[in-house]
Amino acid sequence: MGPTLGFVGLGNIGAPICQCLLNSGYDVTVYDVDPDAMARFDGGPARLACSLAGLASSVDAVILSLPNSAVVEGVVFGDGGLSEGLSEGKVLIDTSSSKPSSTRRLSARLGDMGVQLLDAPVSGGVARAKEGKLAVMVGGEKEAFERYRGLLSAFGSQVFYVGESGAGHLTKAINNLISATTLASAAEAVLLGVRAGLDPAKIIEVVNASSGRSNSTETKFPRHILNGAFDDGFAVGLMNKDVKIALETAAELDQPMLIGASVGQVWQAAMAQGYAPEGHTAIYAFLEGLTEQ
Ligand code: NAD
Repeated sequence: MGPTLGFVGLGNIGAPICQCLLNSGYDVTVYDVDPDAMARFDGGPARLACSLAGLASSVDAVILSLPNSAVVEGVVFGDGGLSEGLSEGKVLIDTSSSKPSSTRRLSARLGDMGVQLLDAPVSGGVARAKEGKLAVMVGGEKEAFERYRGLLSAFGSQVFYVGESGAGHLTKAINNLISATTLASAAEAVLLGVRAGLDPAKIIEVVNASSGRSNSTETKFPRHILNGAFDDGFAVGLMNKDVKIALETAAELDQPMLIGASVGQVWQAAMAQGYAPEGHTAIYAFLEGLTEQ
C-alpha cells in the first residue's frame, strides 16, 4: 500500500497530475476552492474533501498545484489551512511554480512541526501532464525525495533531485525564463517575416529544419499559434510570474540580466494589455498587435 494522498488545486495542470496518481492506484482525496473543479472529480475514484484541515489530518502526504506562493502560503498557514491538520511525519509536495524564498521559509516553519516540504515543480505543459510524462525538478531533503520518488514518477517521466529546499522552484524559474525568451523572440522574428510578406507556416517549417529551432517553434507554433487558437493551457499571467521570480532572484544576487530584463518587459507589457488569462502562446498576438501598421 502506498501513502494516502491529498491533492489541492485541480486546475489546468493539477487535474491531469491528480488523474495520473489515481490511474496509478493511489488513494487520493481532493480539494479546490472552485466547485466546478471539484465537480469534475465527483463520481470517480477520488474522495472529495470539505476542508483543508480535514484533508491534511486524513492523509500521509499532500500535493499542491496552486497559482503562486501567496496562495500556497494561505493554503498551508491561513485560517483553517492545512497546517491545522498536519502532524509530525507528514509530507507536503508543492508542484506549483512558487518563489524559492517563500518555499525556504515554509520549509523551515513546517520543519518545526516535524513536517517535510518538497518543492517539485513540473514542466511539459498540459499535454505531457495527461500522458504522465512531465519533467519534475525536486528540492528538499534527499531522504524525503527518495521516499517519494515513485509517487513523482506517476506523473513525471524524468524526475530530478536538484538540491536543498527552494532549488526545484529556482530551477523551474530558470527554465521558464529561457522558455519565455525563446517564445517571445521567435514570435517577434516570425512577425518580421510576415511583415515582409513571407508565410509564417513556411518560416516555421524551415526554422525547424535549421539552427533557430526550439520547443517554441517545434511544439508551440504548430499546435497553438499558427492556427490562431493560443489554447495551450498555461496562462500569460503564470508565465509572467515565473519570469518575475527569476528576475527577483537575480536582483537579490546583484546579477545583471540584460536579456532577461528585456524579456520581462515584454511579458509585463502583455499583462498591461489584459493578456493575463490568455494562453501564454498569445504573446504572439500581443506582439502582432504592437507591430501592426
Ligand atoms: P490554474 O489557475 O488552472 O489552476 C489553479 C487551481 O488552484 C484552480 O483550480 C484554483 O481554483 C485552485 N485554487 C486557487 N486558490 C486556491 C485555494 N486557496 N485553495 C484551493 N484551491 C485553490 O493554474 P495551472 O495552470 O493549473 O497552474 C498551477 C501551477 O502549476 C502554477 O503554479 C503554474 O505556474 C504551474 N504550472 C502550470 C503549467 C501549465 O501548463 N498549466 C505547467 C507547469 C507549471
